Amino acid sequence: MGRAFSHIALSQSGPLPFIVTAALFTVIFAAAVAAWLAAKLWLAQRQIRFVAAHREEVPRAFSDRVGLAAQQKAADYTVARMRFSREEVLAETALLVLLTLGGGLGLLVAWTASFGLGPVATDVALVVAVGVVAGLVGLPFSYAYTFGIEARFGFNRTTRATWFADVAKSAAVAAVLGIPLAALVIWLMRAAGAWWWLWAWLAWMAFQFLVLALYPTVIAPLFNRFSPLPEGPARTAIEALLARCGFTSKGLFVMDGSRRSSHGNAYFTGFGRAKRIVFFDTLLERLAPGEVEAVLAHELGHFRLRHVLKRMAWSAAVSAVVLALLAWLVTVPWFYEGLGVPASPERPGVALVLFFLALPVFTFVLGPLASLYSRRHEFEADAFAARHASAAALVTALVKLCEDNATTLTPDPLYSAVYDSHPPAALRIARLRAS
Ligand SMILES: [Zn+2]
Repeated sequence: MGRAFSHIALSQSGPLPFIVTAALFTVIFAAAVAAWLAAKLWLAQRQIRFVAAHREEVPRAFSDRVGLAAQQKAADYTVARMRFSREEVLAETALLVLLTLGGGLGLLVAWTASFGLGPVATDVALVVAVGVVAGLVGLPFSYAYTFGIEARFGFNRTTRATWFADVAKSAAVAAVLGIPLAALVIWLMRAAGAWWWLWAWLAWMAFQFLVLALYPTVIAPLFNRFSPLPEGPARTAIEALLARCGFTSKGLFVMDGSRRSSHGNAYFTGFGRAKRIVFFDTLLERLAPGEVEAVLAHELGHFRLRHVLKRMAWSAAVSAVVLALLAWLVTVPWFYEGLGVPASPERPGVALVLFFLALPVFTFVLGPLASLYSRRHEFEADAFAARHASAAALVTALVKLCEDNATTLTPDPLYSAVYDSHPPAALRIARLRAS
């Protein structure tokens, strides 16, 4: 154990009121993985059954606007995506188990130690190795999704050349941003004493602001072309709306989303005075100026009602708790041994990787709360849009977006409650009509 590790004394039980042994933690972890997998597969199965059962009938609230063919397409698309997601979940779980209890991470730990690098570089190499393994497992799924499902339903517009270029660029961005961050955190874990996690938290916050600042002007243009929103009725309506809401922005842009997919979207990016509003060209093609205005009013609502700020505050608080938990787990041997790796407090990168591999299994139960919180914000932003633009235009925009994206109008209520960040269109439209 190095000098820098005087603060990390391996304690046998930690502050828990009972003795956790490696064997017990293995059982807890295995049970959590099994429950996590079963829950995901069961929810997917429910969604498939519910959507398929409603394939032949358009809900009454939509029957004047949506045809039966659109309802059937949305059902088939949803079912295909669910089946695909089940395979993805199985692969993800297999990878997790192989890396942890299967001893894969132990092999990578020994392999990276054999490079003869310095202590921080050895751990960074481990983080990169795990990232590469996870990336390689995910790649065929991403390929099959784009050129299989998306192509089959007529949404894909990307070429194989663009797709492979995107993969290379994403990997380069992840390396350029991720490797220095990993090195900094690992160095802090080694050198900053018992409160390293507080410093790591500050570094993480600074990193997020950096990415937010770089995204609109440096990262996003690597993948897409952005041009100023041309003069016309849509621009006039949008500028009037921004003036009405007292909103300043660095610019209105159109993104060539149609290069890759026919799915439409609009988003805000950047912060402070450098905020940009970006519309996918696919959105502008389909929506009338009044509908674009209503969609933007909804997005403005997220800003004006401080949803963005609240989410950032939540995420900051959660990361602090998560890092404090990690700071404790680094010091207990059952955490490593229970997950199939020899206790290695002298290599904090091991705990870092292990922790972020295992964490989603335990935090899955919090997902529905986050979804609920997000859906509440969506209703509030809809109400804001109804006040500052036209509720009727937002309704027609939502119907068009559902139809164009083949979003099911009849999701399984439980599946939706667990996963959906946006309320089902039927609920949103019912509220908008009542407003
Ligand atoms: Zn929203």
